[in-house]
Amino acid sequence: MLIVMQSHATEEQIRAVCARIESLGLKAHPIPGSLRTAIGITGNQGSLDLGVLESMSGVVECIPVSKPYKLVSRDAKEEDTVLRIPTPSGDVLVGGKHIALVAGPCAVETEDQCMTVGAQLKATGVRLFRGGAYKPRTSPYSFQGLGEEGLKILAKVRDAYGFGIITEAIDNESLALVEDYADVIQIGARNMQNFSLLKRAGRAKKPVLLKRGMSATLDEFLMAAEYILSEGNYNVMLCERGVRTFSDFSRNTLDLAVVPAVQKRSHLPILVDPSHGTGKRNKVLPLSRAAVAVGANGLLVEVHHDPEKALSDGMQSILPEEFAELTVEVKQVANVLHRIVN
Ligand code: PEP
Ligand code: MN
Repeated sequence: MLIVMQSHATEEQIRAVCARIESLGLKAHPIPGSLRTAIGITGNQGSLDLGVLESMSGVVECIPVSKPYKLVSRDAKEEDTVLRIPTPSGDVLVGGKHIALVAGPCAVETEDQCMTVGAQLKATGVRLFRGGAYKPRTSPYSFQGLGEEGLKILAKVRDAYGFGIITEAIDNESLALVEDYADVIQIGARNMQNFSLLKRAGRAKKPVLLKRGMSATLDEFLMAAEYILSEGNYNVMLCERGVRTFSDFSRNTLDLAVVPAVQKRSHLPILVDPSHGTGKRNKVLPLSRAAVAVGANGLLVEVHHDPEKALSDGMQSILPEEFAELTVEVKQVANVLHRIVN
């Protein structure tokens, strides 16, 4: 259920409607828009008879939301959500016309490695740095990440180059630490349906980047995001990273068609990860161009200064100079679409 407020509804009227919703044992989610505020209601098991709300002052109408997701839906908020990611060098905008580039190694390996890649990436103008301190690996014998030591290295990279930091949390324990050190909390493909982790991310004070599960349908992807918003964290960006198919020439099949499909249904920004989406270095540039052309709100790209020696995902990591070329090309594509790359 969604309560649509009048465009001139006062703060007090909005508060009164929220209080009435809460008094019924439900949760109210005021969602301000440029024209009006809508108030999403969650916590109800079945349909609600909310005639009582419709007669409150400042309310235009109560509309039942038929889709399983409510807060992430365009019914709740018509215009695109634009996230502001605070970084030491000012906010980075993601969503709407704003395309955000994120680059960095798959895993934080050593301080030297991150500082070297960081210095080279800084020169490309990129402002968001990625790198996993906690790595969800298929094999228990593969490099699992440096844990908190890796987060400390990322904090040094932030201080040295002014990047905003995006890094993955794999469980509730690591999420608490990631929340302390990073600017954006990444939830990886393997955890897209880890509902207790999603709820914990929903209570975090930092924006969340939610990657699509490797076999998740569009509804499952949006419902996973709904978990985060329903706990009160509305700063969520989605990320398509390829799904499993019968295709045998790439690690995953990058489902670029999901970008406009998400944007039709949801106001949340959606990024594309061409690195995990293809698994092959030589496919990263063409798929990055395609992702921006199809309307992605950003790219998440794995970059390593010495990919042959990378402890994870070397095959799909590009060199910093290749990333520099990528930024030039995607900016050209973005220009045609009147979008701004930052
Ligand atoms: C990553 O971004 O390094 C990662 C592990 O991605 P995914 O969860 O998409 O596999
Ligand atoms: Mn990786």
